[in-house]
Amino acid sequence: MRVYAHDVYTYPLPPGHKFPLGKYRLVRQGAQRVPEMTVETARPATTDELLLAHEPNYVASMDAGEIARRDVLALGLPWSPELIERARRSVGATIMATDAALNDGVAANLGGGTHHAFPHSGRGFCIYNDVVVAIRAAQQAGAIVRALVVDLDVHQGDGTHFALDGDDSAFTFSINGFGNYPFQRVPGDLESDLPNGTGDAAYLAELERLLPLAIERSQPDICYFLAGADPYEHDRLGRLSLTKKGLARRDEIVRSALIDSRVPVVVALAGGYAEPIEDTVAINLATLGHFAQA
Ligand SMILES: [Zn+2]
Repeated sequence: MRVYAHDVYTYPLPPGHKFPLGKYRLVRQGAQRVPEMTVETARPATTDELLLAHEPNYVASMDAGEIARRDVLALGLPWSPELIERARRSVGATIMATDAALNDGVAANLGGGTHHAFPHSGRGFCIYNDVVVAIRAAQQAGAIVRALVVDLDVHQGDGTHFALDGDDSAFTFSINGFGNYPFQRVPGDLESDLPNGTGDAAYLAELERLLPLAIERSQPDICYFLAGADPYEHDRLGRLSLTKKGLARRDEIVRSALIDSRVPVVVALAGGYAEPIEDTVAINLATLGHFAQA
């Protein structure tokens, strides 16, 4: 499986910041030790590609670092030129993984899944919406018609829902923690909000009930799987309580449903805020390992 990394393009964060920047390097190093995975460096998305999903004045203001203080607070990351380079490469990784998945059946971005990015603004650690850009780029190239987004990050993908609202060519399915950000929701096509503390059994039953509906209703040419590690019971931000075993079962349910339906899949790792960081890394590598053997 080809996987795309961008972690060497790092950026400054203040000491003690809660964004787990270090996990990306550890995931990449872990992936490099797995014979079934080939790690490649992601190229940056071009401005033309970003404009497929974002407003020109937003992209220009991000490039220039001319961002209102309110918007910096909503983003939760301090602006730097390196931050923007990294954000473009994270989108590039999903675009490259899309091409690879359409050829090979499966591929991954060792990051991405920045689902809180809206066409006109970034928030919640998300600058550009990699999945929406990649869907638009693949549609424009004639490589796909319909896409399915399976978003199993604990947070609701409000930016993705907003960007794809009313678009019959893209279908969003998600299972969210009801007690988690964002508190002002943007409805998706099919979603379930689970109460705080929901464990493996109830979560997996919901996934097995809804995922076949999502595939049947969307008839996708490609699926983007946001395999967030943050539904984990010891995640600092996530309010759900899945075990590592439950998360592995989640990945297996998604993998086998998509393979049975012969749908190519792009895996994006999305969020994960466990302490120690190695818990998130282990969950991410388990997810990748599942799909690498597909
Ligand atoms: Zn998340």
